[in-house]
Order: sequence, then C-alpha cells, then structure tokens
Amino acid sequence: MGGTKVLASIINKEEGIVARLKVATNPELQGDEYVDTLASSINKIMEDNDMKDKHIEAVCLGVPGSVNPYTGIIDLAPNLGLKNFNIKEKLQNKIPLPVLLENDVNLGALGIKYFGVGKRATDMLAVFIGTGIGGGLILNGKIYRGPGFTAGEIGHILVDKDGPVCGCGNRGCFETIASRTAIVNKIIEDIKGGKQSKLAAKIKSGQRIKSKTLANAMEIGDKVVTKRIFEACDVIGGVLASQVNFMNFNLIVLGGGMIEAMDSFMIPKIRDAFNNHVLKASAKDLKIIPSKLGDDAAIWGGIALAEEFLGETF
Ligand SMILES: [Zn+2]
Repeated sequence: MGGTKVLASIINKEEGIVARLKVATNPELQGDEYVDTLASSINKIMEDNDMKDKHIEAVCLGVPGSVNPYTGIIDLAPNLGLKNFNIKEKLQNKIPLPVLLENDVNLGALGIKYFGVGKRATDMLAVFIGTGIGGGLILNGKIYRGPGFTAGEIGHILVDKDGPVCGCGNRGCFETIASRTAIVNKIIEDIKGGKQSKLAAKIKSGQRIKSKTLANAMEIGDKVVTKRIFEACDVIGGVLASQVNFMNFNLIVLGGGMIEAMDSFMIPKIRDAFNNHVLKASAKDLKIIPSKLGDDAAIWGGIALAEEFLGETF
C-alpha cells in the first residue's frame, strides 16, 4: 500500500510471484475510498489471472505505518492519511477472504527470514535504507513487534542531538543523517556552496535525485557524492555496531533503494565502520549482507504472515 499506488501480487511458495498489478491511487483518497481501491485492485488481479476465491488462502496488506496485526487497526499511516482505522474489518466486508496486515518493513524482514538470505539466522536485524530508514527484528526465529507494535524503528535512533529535524518531530534521528534524503540534502548544500559535482545541473533544475543517480555519480568518481555517501556509511556502520553490542544478532541484512543501487560501494564501508565500533565477542560469526529480494521481500513476507496468523503451512 502506497500513497500514490497500490502494488498487488499473487504469490505461492512453489512458483513465487505469479502475477503483478500496479494501480495508481489518487493521493486525495482517504479512508473508505482507499479501501474501495484496494478491493478493486484485488478483484482485478484475481480476474486477470482466472483466480477464484477458492484459489486464494489470504489477502495480506503491507502498510507503511504502525499497525496492530491482531485487531487489524492502522494506528497511523501518514502517507495514506489513515489514523486509527480498522482496515481489516472494512476490507473484509468487501472481500470474502481472510485479510491480514503488517507493517511493510516487518513484512520485508519476514520475507528475508523465511524465503531469502536470512533462512539460517535465528536473530536478525533487517535495515532498509532509502528515502527514510526502517528496520525489522527477528528474535528466536520470529518477528519481534513489541507490546505496542512499534519495534524496529531504527530510523529514529538518536545519532546527533543537534542534527536536522526529523519527520517524527525530534532532532538528529538516524534517518536525518544517513537516508538518501539526508545525503541528497548534504550534496545540495555542497553544490550551493560552490563545490563541483556531476549532479549540479540536475539539482539546479529541481529533478528528484534517485539512488541510481547517486550510484552513477559514484561510478564516475564524483567526489562530492562519494564523500557524502561514505560519511553516511560511517554512521550506518556505527549504528549497526551499537545494535549488535546491545542485541547480539547473528545476521544483519541490508536492503532499500540505496543498498540495491550501490551495495558494492556501501557495504564494505559500512563493515569498516561497524568493525571499528563493535565488541569483538558480540560480532563473532556475524555477517552483514545485502537482501537481494528488493521490494519483493515484503511480498514473500505475506506467506510467512499468513502461516503465522492462519496457523497453517501452505
Ligand atoms: Zn525521527
């Protein structure tokens, strides 16, 4: 579920993702109208692929916000304009199938744990670095949600008390220092300050700078971009080391747009900073690796969610 689009997929364990559908949504749509869009997207992808209700075990929603997967209530999803909204009940009235939901980052962590590079990890931290920074925790082989279902908000760990103001209202959160948004803001400041960068023309014309654009600039040796990305990697490595010192994970999986676009540049730098800060005993046998599942991680996570909540193995 997104603020400007709904991405629907049909997946099964044997064949993986068998169908995909992208439906643009009007960002003005809120509440019941958003539920209507979801219902029509689900009906359409099923019709397009000759699927009947009997072929589908569950509908799983990936919500960009805080949710209670037991009650089906979205506490807050700012990009969707939804607050204290029982989406499970509303959608279930329109779709005669079990409706399940989970925070989209937690779904990504579940996908990585059960169907991706995290299969053998018992205690795993998944961190997604893109526009913002999100995290998901697997403890003793299971997703850890916390009593208020907010666990994993690594993007809002305090890194610099005098740092930039975050979307959450606090100052100096991890994502205000090391997300793509933060890196691009620094590069813009550098260019405005007179530094030479290949991105100058794009930035002056107001183009959105994507992760791929940053990766291309690094590949051709852009000093400004390289410096700012490596600074972010330093912070990322330090934050990850703190998490491992505290929790003794046996695997860290990195994903998100920045990592997908330039894991070969970023992960070695992140590992260096990590090694400088981690306690040797805590990091014994720990690996830091890229996800490789991309956005599909959350879709695979839907299978794990359905198995958990419906108590069946599919
Ligand atoms: Zn924050």
